[in-house]
Amino acid sequence: MILTFVTVLFIAVMFIFGCFIYVIRKIEKNDVSSSIKYLLLSACVCMGFYGSAILVRNDMISSFLFSAYNAVDDIVILLLLRFAKKFTGTGDVIKGEKKVFIIATATDAIILFLNPLTELTYTCDSITDNFGIVFHYISKFKFLYSCHLGIMYIVVILTFGVLGRKISSTPKIYKMKYAAVLISICPVIAVNAILLNFETKFDYSILFYTVIAFSVFYFSLVYVPRGLMERLLFFSVANMRYGIICIDIDGKCVHANKTARIYCDAEVDSENVEEQVKKWYAEKVSSEPKDCSWQSVRRVDGKMRHYSIEYKQMFDNSFRYIGCFFLIDDHTEDDEKLAAEKYRATHDTLTGIYNREYFYETSRKLIDSTPDTDYCMVCTDVKNFKLINDIFGIAIGDRLLKEIASITAKLADNKCTYGRLTSDRFAICFPKNMFNENTLLYEYSKVSNFIQNSVFKIRIHIGIYEIDQRDAGISVMCDRANLAIKTIKDSYQNVIAYYDNNLRSSVMKEQKVIGEFETAMSMGQFLIYIQPQVSTGGYIRGGEALVRWNHPDDGIIPPGKFIGILEKTGLISKLDAYMWELSCIQLRKWLDAGMEDVYISVNISPKDFYLIDVYDVITGLVKKYSLNPKSLHLEITETAVMSNPRQQLALINKLRKFGFLIEIDDFGSGYSSLNTLKDITADVLKIDMGFLESTSNIEKSRTILQMVISLAKSLNMEVITEGVENKQQADFLAEAGCDIFQGYHFAQPVSVSEFESKYLFKCVEV
Ligand code: C2E
Ligand code: MG
Ligand code: MG
Repeated sequence: MILTFVTVLFIAVMFIFGCFIYVIRKIEKNDVSSSIKYLLLSACVCMGFYGSAILVRNDMISSFLFSAYNAVDDIVILLLLRFAKKFTGTGDVIKGEKKVFIIATATDAIILFLNPLTELTYTCDSITDNFGIVFHYISKFKFLYSCHLGIMYIVVILTFGVLGRKISSTPKIYKMKYAAVLISICPVIAVNAILLNFETKFDYSILFYTVIAFSVFYFSLVYVPRGLMERLLFFSVANMRYGIICIDIDGKCVHANKTARIYCDAEVDSENVEEQVKKWYAEKVSSEPKDCSWQSVRRVDGKMRHYSIEYKQMFDNSFRYIGCFFLIDDHTEDDEKLAAEKYRATHDTLTGIYNREYFYETSRKLIDSTPDTDYCMVCTDVKNFKLINDIFGIAIGDRLLKEIASITAKLADNKCTYGRLTSDRFAICFPKNMFNENTLLYEYSKVSNFIQNSVFKIRIHIGIYEIDQRDAGISVMCDRANLAIKTIKDSYQNVIAYYDNNLRSSVMKEQKVIGEFETAMSMGQFLIYIQPQVSTGGYIRGGEALVRWNHPDDGIIPPGKFIGILEKTGLISKLDAYMWELSCIQLRKWLDAGMEDVYISVNISPKDFYLIDVYDVITGLVKKYSLNPKSLHLEITETAVMSNPRQQLALINKLRKFGFLIEIDDFGSGYSSLNTLKDITADVLKIDMGFLESTSNIEKSRTILQMVISLAKSLNMEVITEGVENKQQADFLAEAGCDIFQGYHFAQPVSVSEFESKYLFKCVEV
């Protein structure tokens, strides 16, 4: 009998251990599975101790093993509670629970382990069976054993509480999941209590640990309560975004969820669903049935809704047809979202007409798809739009733009493309045969009185490019129309301009200059020419460095042909730095040849101040060639100074401090000459002779020139006049107090060698 018990105990241990291995290897790691793992392991150990305690020969060792078994017994029960908590997602049942249990279990364990010496908890004995095998058993339970049992039963009650509470609070379909565990634990505890009262020699109840271990393992990790999956699936389908209609082999509707019924307009009566299915079979599903899909539009609650419907057949494991289902996807909101996104990507937010990107895209398609049609690109620009914003406010500016946008949209019919390019620029791509200049002028002139109660007239400039190069980019076409706008002079009558041959050739020239610039720089095609500067006594000790492009095909090109283009593209700073270096190299050569009192004036483009650090570059060059900064005169135009006076005046002062001589170039050609004089501290004023020539009243101009010269003198500035072309001019200027002359009357700009041989340190007749 005892041997049978031990054998069963051994099998039970093996079984629980098997479950433990299964949990470790198969089940994904989470709180529940790990709590089960520890529970199984502790149950194994507990039963192992008990088995060993029965079987060992030595009384003392057996007594200790019984203590270990009882101590681990506590742990098993505690781990059962832990499992229940994890399984139900419950927190601590009593405050400071962990601490209380650790203290209680530790105290219990100490008492149990002292038992072989004290025998206060129980006493052990041994019996010999029919085969002569000695078995140990607990012969008598004493008072302290009740404490051990007390701890265990408290924990068991808490475990019941945790599971019971969950069962009462959880939705019906989940109750079974927790009840299964609770129900499987109950009889085990009951049997244990009963066996305890029978005072059997061996604790047969320990075998029921196998039942607890197995039921905990099975019900929480393997078993899904019957119906739970079906019910969950049912609810999933019922609340699905998609409509679903399941049809059995007889064509009867097994299930149609709410969305599907809304679609079939049959929220109550399922026959409508079947009617609908019949219709689909007749119209959409082919006679040789196979999966298919189609689109459908329906009015639901007064709104057109868009659906895609999918038909799918179902087969069992032996590939026998068992029915089919229809999946109804209402993609109205998705479509609307997509349409809104597309609208945002293709439309201008302010005016609501097409944006630049979409205009470029559609124009490209239009031109490419109709190779036999000629087109013209029309661009518009509001004259002084910034001013309108500044004076009348952004709101008026915005309203004006919306008005122009609506005119633009009205002008363009469905054979045209149109859009807003940038702030006040709009464009239309017209087929040539639809383009009418007068209509265009008439429509856009409607905004001229847009600002009421004001004399301010709004003018829209129109540039037209008759597309002759169809493969050019749309942006290039717009650039050409915009270029035409730039040629519109400031008159009220003229608001329209065409991109013509002149513009074309100037664009070509620009592109040529830009394209050839880098090579020209690297090949040293830019040369320094010097125009001598003559003192009133006729003596020459320096001149202005003026660039010449020694082009391999076109010969010597004057700067007027390329400086403007280089300024527009920002390449000018490269050329200027190069010219400054050539001038410094020349000055160094003269110094090395013993010519000390010589200078060169170099030009600084207004753009240089924005493109490079003029101070760093120029001072760097002077240091590099060990020059006296006085020998390099810097020509800065008055327009450059006045474009950003605060910064420029500070820079001029810094350059002067370093030792450079500053000349204000082209004085008199700008708008604010006298203003400049008031603020600036320069060394030389370079007066432009054009200033004198452009007026009809020569006498008056001469008086002004005289005044400017004497003003400059009183401000301690030297005066150079450039563009002196004849003797009368020279005589008058000398009389007016001009210090130095520069002009064709004395000399043209010449190469460095000619300057050296003909002019440097020589006298010419004044
Ligand atoms: P600028 O600095 O005012 O140079 C004087 C211009 O007047 C020179 O034209 C010169 O040849 C011209 N000139 C001199 N005397 C007379 C005269 O008696 N009558 C007439 N009609 N013209 C005269 P150029 O060399 O064609 O230079 C034109 C402009 O190009 C220069 O005006 C300057 O603004 C610019 N430039 C020339 N070289 C450079 C350079 O290396 N860098 C920069 N940034 N600009 C330069
Ligand atoms: Mg100059
Ligand atoms: Mg000048």
